[in-house]
Amino acid sequence: MHTDDTIAAISTPAGQGGIGIVRMSGKDAIMIAEKIYRSPKKKRISKSRSHRILYGHIIDPERKEVVDEVLISVMRSPHTYTKEDIIEINCHGGAVPVRRALALVIKNGARLADPGEFTQRAFLNGRIDLTQAEAVLDVINSLTVESQKTAVNQLKGRLSDKIEKIRHELIELAALVETYIDFPEEDIEPLSLMDMNKRSLKIKKALVKLINSSKYGMILREGLKTAIIGRPNVGKSSLLNALVEKDRAIVTEAPGTTRDVIEEYLNIKGLPLRIMDTAGIRSVENMAEKEGVRRSLKAIEDADLVLLVLDGNETLHKTDKELMSKSENKNRILVINKSDLSQKIRIDHLKKEAVKISAKKGTGLSRLKNKIVSSALNGNTESSSEAVTNIRHVHALERALASLNSFREEMKNRISPEFLSVELREALDAVGEIIGITTTDDILNTIFSSFCIGK
Ligand code: GDP
Repeated sequence: MHTDDTIAAISTPAGQGGIGIVRMSGKDAIMIAEKIYRSPKKKRISKSRSHRILYGHIIDPERKEVVDEVLISVMRSPHTYTKEDIIEINCHGGAVPVRRALALVIKNGARLADPGEFTQRAFLNGRIDLTQAEAVLDVINSLTVESQKTAVNQLKGRLSDKIEKIRHELIELAALVETYIDFPEEDIEPLSLMDMNKRSLKIKKALVKLINSSKYGMILREGLKTAIIGRPNVGKSSLLNALVEKDRAIVTEAPGTTRDVIEEYLNIKGLPLRIMDTAGIRSVENMAEKEGVRRSLKAIEDADLVLLVLDGNETLHKTDKELMSKSENKNRILVINKSDLSQKIRIDHLKKEAVKISAKKGTGLSRLKNKIVSSALNGNTESSSEAVTNIRHVHALERALASLNSFREEMKNRISPEFLSVELREALDAVGEIIGITTTDDILNTIFSSFCIGK
C-alpha cells in the first residue's frame, strides 16, 4: 500500500447528471490541478487557501485546448477526507467530460485509485478507524432511513467508543494479572481475585450486550429475509402488491441470476424486509401446486421470517397444514387473508401467531406490520440506531467473549497467571481487530475491495 503517490477517480456514478466529480488525493494533487486549470481572473490553485472553490476551465496543456468549464474545490491537508491534499473537479455531468478530466489528471501525474482507496487512506492516515471506514460503505448502501441512522452513528464513532472502552478495561485487567506473573511463587490474593472477577464480569456484560444488539443490527443492514408462502390463490401476490404500493424501498436484481429473480425490499416502519422469490409469488397461475409447495419449502428454509398466508374464506387444506407444520420452528406469522369474506377457517389455538387481513381492501395491514416489527425486534432493547450491524464485528466480539469466558473459568480453577494473561491477550486482539488496531492485510483488502472506485 503506497500513500506517497496521488490517486484519482471519478467519484460520481456512471451516466448523465448535473455534475460529475473527479477527485484527487495526495501530495501532488494541487500541483497537478494547477497544470490543467485556467482562471479568467488569473487565480492559482497553489495560492488558494484551503476549502475554497475556484471557477475556471480545465485545459489540455499539450493541445492547448479547453476541456470543460469547471469548479475546483481545494482542500488542503490535514483537514480533509484522507488527511491529504484533496482536489475535486466539478465538471459538467456527462460521461465524456468527466472521463476527459480524469485522463488529464492521470496524464499529469496522478494514478487511478483502487476501489475504496480514498477511504482506505483516511483509515491509514488515522482520521477514522476501521468501523468508521466500514460505516462509510453502510451509509452509501443503506436500505432504509433507520439503517442509515445506524450507519451514521457508527461513522461518528459511537461503536468505536464502546470498543475502546472495552479495550481499556481489558488492558487494566491484564495489567492486574501481569503483576502476578513476576511472582510465580505467590498465589493470586483473594481480594485481587474478587476484583478480577468483578472487572471481567463487567466486560463480559458489555460484550454480550453488543452481540445481542447485532441480531437487529444485521437485519437493518442487510434486510430481514422474508418468505411469503401459501398455496395458490390465498392472496400472496395481493399481499405483496398491497405492501409494495406503500412500502416499497428498493428493487434490485440479485447478482448472478436471471432476470426473473428480482429482490424487492419493503420498508416496514424502518425495518428493511427482503422479500424472497418474488417471481415465485407472482407467477403462481402457471405453476403446479406441487411446484409451488416445493418453492415454499425452500423459501421457509432460507427465511428469517415466514409470512404464511391462509385463506380465511376456506377451511384449512392439507397443503396449509403441511406448510404450517414445516414452518412451525421458524419466526412465523400466520396471515389470515380475505377477512372481508365470511370466515370459515378455524385456527383458534394459534390466535397469538395470527393476524387477520384483507389484502384486497387493505385492512389489517397496519397490525400485520406491527407484528412483523415486534417479531424482528424480539425483545431487543438496545437502541436500534446503536446496534452492531457488521458480521465481522460480531465474529470478533464472539471471539473476545469466548476468551473472556475461558479467562473466568481458569480464574475459578486457579490456573496460573501466564495462562490467564494469554486469554486476555486474545480477547484484546479480537476487539482490536474491530477498530483496526490488530488487523491483517487480508482483512483490510476484503473490506476496501467492496467499495466503489472514487470513495
Ligand atoms: P396467490 O396465488 O396466493 O398469489 O393469490 P392472489 O394474490 O393471486 O389472489 C388470488 C385471488 O384471491 C385473486 O382473485 C384475488 O383478487 C383474491 N384475493 C386476494 N386477496 C383477497 C382479499 O383480501 N379478499 C378477497 N375477497 N379476495 C382476495
